Amino acid sequence: MRRRKLLWHIFPSYLLITIIAVTAVSWYSVNAVRRFHLEETAAALTARARLLEERARPLIARSDADALDSLAKELGAAVSTRITVIAPNGVVTADSEEDPAVMDNHGDRPEIVQAMTGEVGRSSRYSYTLETNMMYVAVPVSSETGIAGVVRTAVPLTAVEDQLRTTRTRIALAALLLLALSAVVGLAVSRRIARPLHQMQRGAERFARGDLEHTVPVPDSAEFASLAQSLNTMATELDERIRAVVQQKAEQEAVFAGMTEGVAAVDREGRIITLNRAASRMFGIEPDTARGRAMQEVIRSTGLHEIAGAALDGEGPIERQMAVGAPDERILEAHAAPLRNDDQEISGAVIVLNDVTKLRRLESVRKDFVANVSHELRTPITSIKGFVETLRDGLDGDAGQNGRFLDIIGKHVDRLDAIIEDLLYLSRIEEDTEHTSIVLEHHPVADLLRQTIDSCGPAAAQKNVEIRLSADESLTARVSRQLMGHAIANLLDNAIKYSDAGGIIDVEAEGDGGDVVISVRDRGTGIAEEHQSRIFERFYQVDKSRSREMGGTGLGLSIAKHIVHAHGGTIAVQSMLNQGSTFSIYLPANGRFQNEGGS
Ligand code: ADP
Repeated sequence: MRRRKLLWHIFPSYLLITIIAVTAVSWYSVNAVRRFHLEETAAALTARARLLEERARPLIARSDADALDSLAKELGAAVSTRITVIAPNGVVTADSEEDPAVMDNHGDRPEIVQAMTGEVGRSSRYSYTLETNMMYVAVPVSSETGIAGVVRTAVPLTAVEDQLRTTRTRIALAALLLLALSAVVGLAVSRRIARPLHQMQRGAERFARGDLEHTVPVPDSAEFASLAQSLNTMATELDERIRAVVQQKAEQEAVFAGMTEGVAAVDREGRIITLNRAASRMFGIEPDTARGRAMQEVIRSTGLHEIAGAALDGEGPIERQMAVGAPDERILEAHAAPLRNDDQEISGAVIVLNDVTKLRRLESVRKDFVANVSHELRTPITSIKGFVETLRDGLDGDAGQNGRFLDIIGKHVDRLDAIIEDLLYLSRIEEDTEHTSIVLEHHPVADLLRQTIDSCGPAAAQKNVEIRLSADESLTARVSRQLMGHAIANLLDNAIKYSDAGGIIDVEAEGDGGDVVISVRDRGTGIAEEHQSRIFERFYQVDKSRSREMGGTGLGLSIAKHIVHAHGGTIAVQSMLNQGSTFSIYLPANGRFQNEGGS
């Protein structure tokens, strides 16, 4: 529906009222003036008739028609009035304009009829004699016997009408002028009323566009002023509320984004509403591209779809563990719950995800460790038990045999001792690392290496292995002398063990802008590639029987790795089967403690 402007509601009615008022006043004025003029004319005619009556009475008494006629003609010309004298029987005896002899009997003329009753007769009508509108006033001439005749004065109404026409024109002009003036004033007033409304309308439009800091000007009139003030108050309150909502949203998003738990929310149709950074990282997707899309389309995890579906079906909080990400598999613990609106209807579901990969791995490492330790200990114990029983059975037998058995028992006991010692050492390092009680100090690297090589001297000499050292004497590293010495000794010990008799081992140290690299290179058996990534695990041995034969526990490299990690460094191996191995310890200048879990 097309709506008219407020101006066109106010202005036409205003104009209509003005037109009615001006027309009414004009009409009344024209009538009043007309009445006034006619009364004036009638009064003048009456006065003249009365004057004439005085002069005509003797002549009427004498019935001197000629004298009367001359008097009528003379006075009529003098005062520009038609004067007629009529006998009681209606016969015209004198007339200022015509010959009375040719005139009709005037007895039936309304003014004459009225004058004959003794009153002043009055009439306005068309005169066929003079062919114009006339006003007649008739005054009875009374005598002792009654009414002796009637003196009638008359004037044409044309003069009055001329006068009236001029007056009417003037009034009409004045009315038109008044109308035009009031139209202009009305238009101005209407605009004045509408203007504040327009301003408020423009202000409301700006509010709707979000410009809530704008203020609507407050008009003078009380009603509009309170409306404008209400609008301004509403805008301010709205602005405050929007700010509060925006702030709340920002805070919520910051909390979501900062959470280590993944949070995903879906709507009733399973489309993603929110996905925080942690959740998108878990599934390897972009949060912005995921929003608004179906969960099935974006996240490939049947487990997740199932629990989201169950939550949307109204099942209470659901908990499930699932594996996601094919090559780099992660284990997630998901909790899903339905989202309900004010009417308790399900409007979506929220899923909270915890990455429990590390926890599960630690659990499995711990389980493996216990199994490994038990296994490693059981072998020598079973052997010891067996030999002890054999000994008991044949105690009085061959003394040489008994001595061999006791040697074997002694070897196993040594192995048990070595394993337990290594395990205790490992747990001590772990504890120290956890409590950051390892003290790091700058030590000359060459000095440290020399001392370690010396400690391995007897073993090297036994195998006739030469150990060469190449290190800058001025090179220092921030280390725990005792721990780092132990780690390097383990590497050297292995290098000697897996070198052929008469082999050469190179121990080198290099500095690079504060970083230090220590390497131990042998030319021994080497390690096949498939084992290289696992030799740092606890109890891992490439050739178990051979390593055991040499007194290995499978814990040496694991201890070395822990020590290096406790220094904030890394350890790596480069090896080729039957060509030798190089173990390198990398100690960064800004190395710090790392609480490493794992093997
Ligand atoms: P072990 O006490 O058995 O030596 P380690 O943890 O020190 O245990 O080493 C684990 C395994 O890695 C060894 O059993 C061995 O198979 C292999 N290994 C370690 N160092 C060397 C090396 N220098 N040359 C060849 N193999 C090695």
